[in-house]
Amino acid sequence: MAVITRLSSYFVRTLREDPADAELPSHKWLVRAGYIRRVAPGIYSWLPLGLRVLQKVEQIVREEMDAIGGQEVRFPGLLPREPYEATHRWTEYGPNLFRLHDRKGSDYLLGPTHEEMFTLLVKDLYSSYKDLPLFLYQIQIKYRDEARPRAGLLRGREFVMKDSYSFDVDDAGLVESYNRHREAYVRIFDRLGLEYVIVQAMSGAMGGSASEEFLAVCDNGEDTFVRSPGGYAANVEAVRITPPADQDASDAGPARAIDTPGTPTIADLVAVVNQKLPRADRAWAAADTLKNVVFKLVSPDGRTETLVIGLPGDREVDAKRLEAAVSPAEAVPFADDDFLANPALVKGYIGPVSLASGAVEQVLGEQGTAKVRYLLDPRVVPGSRWVTGANVVDTHQVDVVAGRDFTADGVIDVAEIRQGDPAPDGSGPLSLARGIEMGHIFQLGRKYADALGLKVLDANGKLVTVTMGSYGVGVSRAVAAVAEATCDDKGLAWPRALAPFDVQVVATGKDEAVLAAAEQLASELDAAGVAVLLDDRKASPGVKFADAEVLGMPTVVIVGRGLADGVIEVRDRTSGERTELGFEGAAAKLVALLTAG
Ligand code: ATP
Ligand code: MG
Repeated sequence: MAVITRLSSYFVRTLREDPADAELPSHKWLVRAGYIRRVAPGIYSWLPLGLRVLQKVEQIVREEMDAIGGQEVRFPGLLPREPYEATHRWTEYGPNLFRLHDRKGSDYLLGPTHEEMFTLLVKDLYSSYKDLPLFLYQIQIKYRDEARPRAGLLRGREFVMKDSYSFDVDDAGLVESYNRHREAYVRIFDRLGLEYVIVQAMSGAMGGSASEEFLAVCDNGEDTFVRSPGGYAANVEAVRITPPADQDASDAGPARAIDTPGTPTIADLVAVVNQKLPRADRAWAAADTLKNVVFKLVSPDGRTETLVIGLPGDREVDAKRLEAAVSPAEAVPFADDDFLANPALVKGYIGPVSLASGAVEQVLGEQGTAKVRYLLDPRVVPGSRWVTGANVVDTHQVDVVAGRDFTADGVIDVAEIRQGDPAPDGSGPLSLARGIEMGHIFQLGRKYADALGLKVLDANGKLVTVTMGSYGVGVSRAVAAVAEATCDDKGLAWPRALAPFDVQVVATGKDEAVLAAAEQLASELDAAGVAVLLDDRKASPGVKFADAEVLGMPTVVIVGRGLADGVIEVRDRTSGERTELGFEGAAAKLVALLTAG
């Protein structure tokens, strides 16, 4: 007979106190239920219960990857510098990369993702188009020194990812490989039981073109996504707005300065303009002003540049959209001492005319001076008129016309996206919601194959560069995301597909017969292939019931007082529903119940 897992000797302790750093319910319960333990910020150990859930997620991912012809391999986490140097990611990854040296002084890194290594592996062994397409994957530990590790497993500095890579000889092949992966991802996230959306995404540090993310819909998620009535869906970082049509400014008077004492903010400015220059048709609004926000762009190699972004005064620059747009550089808002060092930029009164004319220069310390880079929100179309800064304290300008009075160095679409904004597909207003990024699929193209020289002979005997896709699933993140979606105020509540055990059998009372009956039921269930956890501890029924709710097995069977009348109780952890069952033949009835559910 198989050995039943008994709670009396299982390596688990439920905790009464919330961990001090837990912001999200899933984090709190995974720790309190004894699934994971924190080792350092963003670094966790898996205890027996947690490991069983992780392995179930891994198995689902593995089965679906195998089903599309993926072949599993495993790379080390500790990797040499050279391949990452060849693709510039040794530098571009910036502070997110864990870098270290061996005893001989050679540089190593802890792999944040493995495009380079897979590219080189295929280059080592393959040389003909006849061997393609090829899908390789691994389920492996990744390291990223995240700026803000968060919510336990959700954003770790060490985490488990499934990463796969496709290799094709031409673009049509890549599209096909990408679609196969997309279908596998749909099956994976369906099986995980997550409510998710597939959204257009930015490719960020990865490079490449088409990419989509699978986001679990969750109010506590870090990502914001938009949806339109017509089915457009995108991560807010990837939204490209449809600019309004150019405007006719032939009747506009010349730009002129007005005194606007004490108006460093948009609200102050609008109030003063309404007082000094009231409009006949309507009041001036924040959207009539052009505000100019200054950032210091810091490249991964440490070089800095000043960037001014001009956008309608009723909108803010969205930090995540900006981050995605300037990556791998980092955009840091100008601080007071940056303004002090650059007196040509007059804080609160910055104007596009002087910026665009090149009159404003940034002071770069030893690097000397350089023209400030000026980029405009796409809403600032040619012919649009603005109230904006004159680059002189307490002074603004009115009737400043884009294209006539100033131009910029380019366009940057990083203003906040708001609920109700027009959707880029023209189908109506956008709605916003939050999500957790669970998976990300990219058509990488030839970036890595080019950098590392992965070529094969094509059908005509010509050497061609291979085109690649890369596809990630957050495996450990999925454990947290499912916990977050399913837990309640009493504890975890796993869906059957991920639960560490199908059934928790709880024996209550001091009666020897009760424990014997519970053990018998547990063995019968086990023999029928049901994974059982038996609560055989000498604790009060109240403690045991509460722990069963904390631990979150989908079905809890209570063998206790009712046994004298030949009945046991079955509780559904998720619905809370309770039913009585005759003890005679209970195992078979439970198996039927579990397979029906
Ligand atoms: P994020 O935007 O959340 O930082 P990313 O875009 O950097 O993620 P990818 O490089 O696309 O992530 O990695 C593939 C998958 O790995 C992600 O979709 C996510 O599910 C998971 N993942 C990424 N970073 C982490 C992390 N720090 N902790 C846990 N899972 C992560
Ligand atoms: Mg991603």
